[in-house]
Amino acid sequence: MAEMPIRAVIAPVTPLQQNCTIVWCAKTMKAAVIDPGGEAPRLMKALADNDLTLEKIWITHGHMDHAGGAAELKHLTGVPIEGPHRDDQFWIDQIQETGERYGVPEARNFVTDRWLDDGDVVTLGETEFEVLHCPGHTPGHVIFFHREARFAQVGDVLFKGSIGRTDFPRGNHQDLLDAITGKLWPLGADVQFVPGHGPMSTFGAERRSNPFVSDLAIESMNIEGRDYAAPVNNSPG
Ligand SMILES: [Zn+2]
Ligand SMILES: [Zn+2]
Repeated sequence: MAEMPIRAVIAPVTPLQQNCTIVWCAKTMKAAVIDPGGEAPRLMKALADNDLTLEKIWITHGHMDHAGGAAELKHLTGVPIEGPHRDDQFWIDQIQETGERYGVPEARNFVTDRWLDDGDVVTLGETEFEVLHCPGHTPGHVIFFHREARFAQVGDVLFKGSIGRTDFPRGNHQDLLDAITGKLWPLGADVQFVPGHGPMSTFGAERRSNPFVSDLAIESMNIEGRDYAAPVNNSPG
């Protein structure tokens, strides 16, 4: 079997244990940090420990636990920030304020170098990731997908056994269901994903057993319509 074009390690950050992910091009050892919620110095050390050169900072959405350390990491390394989608500007504008409330006083608002949109491609060393716009948890949420490696970082769109919260301003439950079933599922049941919080899973496993978006749950919703009682969502993000 050919060697995988990318590698990844997960480094949970902030008191919310957000799954910051370091991904890299195996050939060039150029890395991207996806969702540096905080602890920038620790992430710098993890990069050095793996002999990696940081090339990009990628952001799935503008929540503090995912993006609170982006400004500092950019300041320390000079690399560009890519993402999220521009509809998350209002969240980015309140990162610092949210950090003060949630015990992450070092969290800072940031300025992105590139807004991302559905169908965009972001490069890393000699490889590339596809970008999908998946609104619902936040309106400007994007996910990063590596087709050949069958790997995705989906932020707070989907978790093992749950889905992102949609009770925030401009959250939308139906948009989230549409993004998961209409954009993630077609990528393939074999795709492994890193969620914003908690353990990894595959799209196939969630289609079988996730109480919010399994094929069976979606079918029940369509049959029962407004009578369908969705499970209570206690997800962390
Ligand atoms: Zn989160
Ligand atoms: Zn979130």
